[in-house]
Amino acid sequence: MGFDEGLVFEKRQRKTEEKSKSCGKDQNHVEKANDTNAIVKPGNNNDDEQLYVVKRLRGRGMGCVATSKIPRGTRILAEAPLLIIPKVTTDIKAVEAVIMQGLKGLTRDQQRSFFELANIHKRSCSPLIGITRTNAMPFGSAGEEGGIFPRAARINHSCNPNSQNRWNHNLGKLTIHAFKDIEVGEEITIAYVDGAMNFGDRQLALEEAFGFHCSCELCSLPEEESEKRDSRVQEMLQLDSLLGDGRRTMSKPLACLRDAYTIFQMLNVEGISGSRIARVYNDALQIVIAHGDQARAKVFAEKAHAARVILEGEDSAETMRLKALMEKPSSHGLFGSSKTWAQPVTAIPQGLSEAEFDGWLWKRD
Ligand SMILES: [Zn+2]
Repeated sequence: MGFDEGLVFEKRQRKTEEKSKSCGKDQNHVEKANDTNAIVKPGNNNDDEQLYVVKRLRGRGMGCVATSKIPRGTRILAEAPLLIIPKVTTDIKAVEAVIMQGLKGLTRDQQRSFFELANIHKRSCSPLIGITRTNAMPFGSAGEEGGIFPRAARINHSCNPNSQNRWNHNLGKLTIHAFKDIEVGEEITIAYVDGAMNFGDRQLALEEAFGFHCSCELCSLPEEESEKRDSRVQEMLQLDSLLGDGRRTMSKPLACLRDAYTIFQMLNVEGISGSRIARVYNDALQIVIAHGDQARAKVFAEKAHAARVILEGEDSAETMRLKALMEKPSSHGLFGSSKTWAQPVTAIPQGLSEAEFDGWLWKRD
């Protein structure tokens, strides 16, 4: 488990390009030409234009500001890629040719929307590569490809964002969902880097990949407060990495479930919503279903599903997977690994108070 699904393409791209250090020379292994075909799929997103305006913001360049209240869970944007960028390759010339070819198939307005995008690599790369490196977003965290999304690219970063970007394979579009209520006049923000990084690492990552220093509310905390937050988040990440240990899930399920609960509480205390909450429910789901508890698995699946609907809508692959698990927890791949906690879905207790139900759910009673 990791916290990297919100990362933009630049980060992944940079990792694979580290060896070359430049944008056009010294590339050793050349990918096959057919890996670098850009496909033009202009988006049709006219249905969501009334929710915000793009305007110049003091000290932040252009940004997207809500023109009406945007309730939590709203799909703010669903944008098809203007260009599809192939799997990252060290053959920059080939990528450049593909981008060029893709651009030729676009209308003048679409071409203009590409060239209007930010480019923080002006000194080291051609405009085509610089704009692409600055703006491409991956198709999922393990995506082999990424795309250029001119509208989503206008949404600025915050380490404490109100919205989330997600590639939706079913739609072939990048979606932006508000996971907090956004008021009129408020800026729509997403996280370009993992908000669970500490202050120094976040600033470094943003500076390297996007060329700016973040001064969001988290980054503006007084030094002492910021350090305290960093150490709490570090503690949470350590617990989180323990949860990723499948052997421990099997040998110490109760300790794992307690850790998941501790993470859940820490997320609430830190005011971190977004995909982390959905993930911790999913972790808890895995622990209980691995030990045969279909009752708790159903409840955790429902909670993870509800969180994913807010973040991604009903039509994402992950939301649909969770829906199927809600309906039939025993369809989970880990079901049957152990029968230690075996019980049917009918064992979900009725008539409990919220606190009592939570105590049952997390086995804190
Ligand atoms: Zn920040």
